[in-house]
Amino acid sequence: MDTSTLFPFLDNLQTEMLQTLEELTNLESPSTEKQHTDRLAAHLQQRFSRLGARSMLLSNPAYGNHVEVRWSAGPSDAKPALLLCHLDTVWASGTLASRSFQVRDDKAWGPGVYDMKGGIVLAEFALRALAELGLTLPRPIILLITSDEEIGSPTSRSIIEEHAHQAEYVLVLEPSLPGGIIKTARKGVGQFDVAIQGIAAHAGADPEKGASAIQELAHQILRLHGLTDLALGTTVNVGIVSGGTRSNVVAAEARAQVDVRVWTLDEARRIEALIRDCPSRTPETRVQVTGGFNRPPMERTAAGVALFEQTRAIAARLGIDLQEGAAGGASDGNFTAALGIPTLDGLGVVGDGAHAVHEHVCVDSLPQRAALLAALLLHL
Ligand SMILES: [Zn+2]
Repeated sequence: MDTSTLFPFLDNLQTEMLQTLEELTNLESPSTEKQHTDRLAAHLQQRFSRLGARSMLLSNPAYGNHVEVRWSAGPSDAKPALLLCHLDTVWASGTLASRSFQVRDDKAWGPGVYDMKGGIVLAEFALRALAELGLTLPRPIILLITSDEEIGSPTSRSIIEEHAHQAEYVLVLEPSLPGGIIKTARKGVGQFDVAIQGIAAHAGADPEKGASAIQELAHQILRLHGLTDLALGTTVNVGIVSGGTRSNVVAAEARAQVDVRVWTLDEARRIEALIRDCPSRTPETRVQVTGGFNRPPMERTAAGVALFEQTRAIAARLGIDLQEGAAGGASDGNFTAALGIPTLDGLGVVGDGAHAVHEHVCVDSLPQRAALLAALLLHL
């Protein structure tokens, strides 16, 4: 099997890839606006159908519908390759009005171009190249394009895990690290809520009858932040606090939302136990912690590294010097790696600015990364 035709073929389609990226960007798709994510899901279902894939909508009452694409070009008895994309973005509808899709300085700009509509474009054009060049695949491909990744994948997690169990390997088309670096490790993410109950009282007349939930929250915040260990890569961040009703009332209630990141499962267990062990220091107040680890860490396992080494060798044949790295953010790759399925992440486009206003994609990377993806599907 020959990969040398892939890049020239895709390079000729660069303008079309860019147009597709513009089309997908113009269909705004914030995770929490079902009308919008549904519209993009329907659009993608049709695009992949036109390509000759078996493409269907998985209806989802809670958030947007998901899209499942089956590409059965390979022998049906081989385990499939699973590709993961998400169609939702962090950008509310209407963002385009002030930040429309643009191409400037060999970069494409716009909400969601990098995270990760560019990745969906790669999947479409990699499949198209494989089909039009008549290349024979070693295994079928299943592509899942889910609608709720940016809010923690509440409705897609089980679908992703079900498919991952059957798969030979998983490739996640999330944006790469700067310069195109592949992610072989990602931190796990925990989300905890701390709720404190105190006793309300008149702050001037009866302060001794009250018990301040806010005073206790202050202790808890310092305790939680004290658990951060940068050398271990463990961070605990109280990101949102609320509490009290009036300045002249001793606060009966206070709460905090906490984000926790760790590199390993062992560390996740250790830190979770410490977070939950939260005796109150303010008499008559009660502390309750709920929540847990939503995404387990994607540890740098031997299976993941072996998959990366194969990938690196395939990339070298395309003239790409591929490197690996680790990311503090999590993705759906965390779920599949935690199941023991070899997973590579960050195979999407090269660019910068995920979740930020300077979000952009390097236009050159569109054909290059699509060729890499096609070569991987051909040789892994
Ligand atoms: Zn993403």
